[in-house]
Amino acid sequence: MPTAFGYDDLFLQHRTGQHPERPARLTAIVELLKREGLYQRLTPVSARVNPDEWINLVHTAEYIERLKDACKNDLPFIDTPDSAICPDSQQVAREAVSLVLAACDMIVAGEAKNAFCAVRPPGHHAENDRSMGFCLYNNAAVAARYLQQKQGLKRILILDFDVHHGNGVQHIFERDNTVFYCSIHQHPATLYPGTGWPDEFGEGPGRGFTLNLPLPPDTEDEDFLDAYQTNFLPMAYDFRPDFMIVCAGFDGHRRDPLAQWNLSEYAYEEITRRIVTFAETFCAGRVLSLLEGGYQLGALAQSVSVHIQQLMAKNE
Ligand SMILES: [Zn+2]
Repeated sequence: MPTAFGYDDLFLQHRTGQHPERPARLTAIVELLKREGLYQRLTPVSARVNPDEWINLVHTAEYIERLKDACKNDLPFIDTPDSAICPDSQQVAREAVSLVLAACDMIVAGEAKNAFCAVRPPGHHAENDRSMGFCLYNNAAVAARYLQQKQGLKRILILDFDVHHGNGVQHIFERDNTVFYCSIHQHPATLYPGTGWPDEFGEGPGRGFTLNLPLPPDTEDEDFLDAYQTNFLPMAYDFRPDFMIVCAGFDGHRRDPLAQWNLSEYAYEEITRRIVTFAETFCAGRVLSLLEGGYQLGALAQSVSVHIQQLMAKNE
């Protein structure tokens, strides 16, 4: 089964001006994949799913309307100057979710073993009722709800290896024991958004279904991989997921300007190799990987490339 690749030129229409989260990020990824001959071996996500009902499950009607109005009125940002928007941004964010849900369908139907979606805007900081940190709709959270309620899957594992804590994903599923959220990120005392402390481990019925693994600035490849192996993996085994979603941010790379980790491409290659092996054991290899951060164009494209090569590695 192939690896699916989700991308649409429409995602370039989310115009953010002088901003690290810019259209050139996706162009750099697609160009490198083509140059390396990988693009041609991937199966495109060509279908789309009407996402409105599913976005509504995660985000409040008030926020969705506010985002639409902000775009219609050509406001420069929503909720925070970090979250730059243009008149097309709500539509682009909606289309990104639409493509992500179509990728879910392909994996569940067995048309693809796994998928990587090069989407923007990113999603993991988006709260149910507001934008944060460049994120408008929470792509991973909507996908998790879609997989449960449309596809009938029960337990969804979300691993977030972006260098920033995915506050939005955590808060949306904090009280939920059917979605296990683990984030490996730079320590919140040293980096935006300041959440993701080890004592945030879920609430009420969701107690024990959130795992935060903060690591200091200057974290190296081996520290990052060790957090995966020693702290994440045993809990992931216990959870026995039906499906795995990856919030794939590559801004922990040593050349990335937004954070202070010291990772190389090898960290992303190796964690993906381990993710694929884990998913083979527990969920028939089903992995949906969604682009989050990564702001140094060369480092981003090269990291995505090794990530995709490992997603494809065991495909027959
Ligand atoms: Zn990030």
